Amino acid sequence: MNASNNDFDAIVIGSGIGGLVTGGILAEKEGWKVLVLEKEDVIGGKIYTFEHFDGDEKTFRKILRKNHLSTIVDSKPEISELIERKVFSNYIFEGGWHSYINADRSRLSFVASGLGKEMKVHGSKGFRLFADGKWNSFRYLMRNWTQEDFEEGKKVSREMNLMSKEEAGEYDHIDLRSYLKSRTNSENVRNFHEWLAGYETGHDDPKLISAGEHIKTVSMIHCAGNDLEDGSGGQPEGGFNVISRLFKEIIEENGGEIRTGAAVEKIIVENYKATGVQTSNGVINAPRVICNIPMQRAQKVLEDEYWPKEFKLQIEKNKPLSGILGWINTKKPVDPDFKGIYIMPKLPGCSPEDGFSGDVLFGFEDVATYDSTRTPEGEGLMTVWAGLLPDQLHNPELVQKITKGIFTFYNEYYPGFEENLNWYFLTACDELYSITVTPGMIGDKRLPVKHPLVKDLFFTGDSVTQWSFGVSGAIGGAVNCASAATGKDYSTLMPFYMR
Ligand SMILES: Cc1cc2nc3c(=O)[nH]c(=O)nc-3n(C[C@H](O)[C@H](O)[C@H](O)COP(=O)(O)OP(=O)(O)OC[C@H]3O[C@@H](n4cnc5c(N)ncnc54)[C@H](O)[C@@H]3O)c2cc1C
Repeated sequence: MNASNNDFDAIVIGSGIGGLVTGGILAEKEGWKVLVLEKEDVIGGKIYTFEHFDGDEKTFRKILRKNHLSTIVDSKPEISELIERKVFSNYIFEGGWHSYINADRSRLSFVASGLGKEMKVHGSKGFRLFADGKWNSFRYLMRNWTQEDFEEGKKVSREMNLMSKEEAGEYDHIDLRSYLKSRTNSENVRNFHEWLAGYETGHDDPKLISAGEHIKTVSMIHCAGNDLEDGSGGQPEGGFNVISRLFKEIIEENGGEIRTGAAVEKIIVENYKATGVQTSNGVINAPRVICNIPMQRAQKVLEDEYWPKEFKLQIEKNKPLSGILGWINTKKPVDPDFKGIYIMPKLPGCSPEDGFSGDVLFGFEDVATYDSTRTPEGEGLMTVWAGLLPDQLHNPELVQKITKGIFTFYNEYYPGFEENLNWYFLTACDELYSITVTPGMIGDKRLPVKHPLVKDLFFTGDSVTQWSFGVSGAIGGAVNCASAATGKDYSTLMPFYMR
């Protein structure tokens, strides 16, 4: 039964994973009636998943643009043909590569389980690095290290693993390259951490990766009993919509409601207290408002006078994480026995001498090797990613070099690749994470989950105070937001090393 418009304990603006998880905690743990207002026609925000999509091209492109902030830069055959032939109706895929750290021991799984729900999660097993013209397991590569390299590697890793979150936080605004240089002269050890961090943070330039964030991530993964160099990413079986549906269910089971196509135009503030929201269908009142719109766009829905100058300056400094992503469907997997991650530190033809700011890191994973629900039996479905800075993302020449590099590599390395290929599409994604994990943008520079001046106004998602990034970061933000809104510590839903 739907509650009337003014019957809610809290309004959540946006049904991204941040909004749904905060809403879920408030609904299940506090018994609050939660109303989620989502401007798009589908829920999930960036984690929206195309499940057997058989709609039209306009809808496909719109969801990519609005939910995933992505536009198609290349495909084979043309997208119009793929849609007309209803090819996508056989597959399940996200806007681009989506995998979160710690798989079934992630923040997400712990919070879901604390709210009484379980998800089946597939973890990636193995990590291959392309070196000397072939794929090597990350661990195998270490066999070529000297004894000194080994000792250095152990020393650097031990120091990282023993640091508390607070100690690691002292390196939040130090870049990873400088940090590693200060710790070891071993190039092998430095490369090892830079490649791992490139994959884990989605940023291929170690000068733009926060050392503190890398240390905290490595340490969290170790504490969970996983090893980044053995894989340790994961995805729910059947795609990320499973997560949205699970938290939607929690909200609805506790008397809440989710409305799509319901854009919020303004947060209503009276005497420095949030009292509700203005939508195109009128005003909805509630004693608390929780905003899941990424901070750089949240400015649109709150009067300028309520944005302290420091907030605005910090938002201007923040840059999103961008990149080229996509999906490649093959008649059979390129290696059916490998269920892990492939990383190539230098995509052919994509280095500084080719006009890029650094070597372009290229990664992929074949999700069909461990989640059989995503494709017709026996096929491969690779999700690919190449790092590219926001200011280079819309340079057609650079994008073309990446596309060429990807397929030159596949054709050279996997004989018969062209015959094995069914279809592919690549996108330029402007915003994977709202804020890239870069010194000066994270840690104590993140904006608070509680508005410092406006009472009962809170923020959630991956752009607010928390540590970690992407899906894991959005869960951290959601938990912090629920704690701020209730005055209770909901970080206890997660083990101590994730708080
Ligand atoms: C292509 C792609 C690949 C990614 N890959 C990974 C990965 O491999 N690993 C990883 O950890 N993370 C990955 N991410 C990042 C991860 O998906 C995001 O960090 C996370 O989903 C962000 O969730 P959020 O709730 O903070 O924000 P969002 O998902 O952006 O949610 C915000 C919501 O607010 C809604 N909204 C905005 N304005 C209004 C309004 N006025 N009224 C009502 N609703 C509004 C939006 O429509 C949206 O639903 C990827 C993201 C993309 C796009």
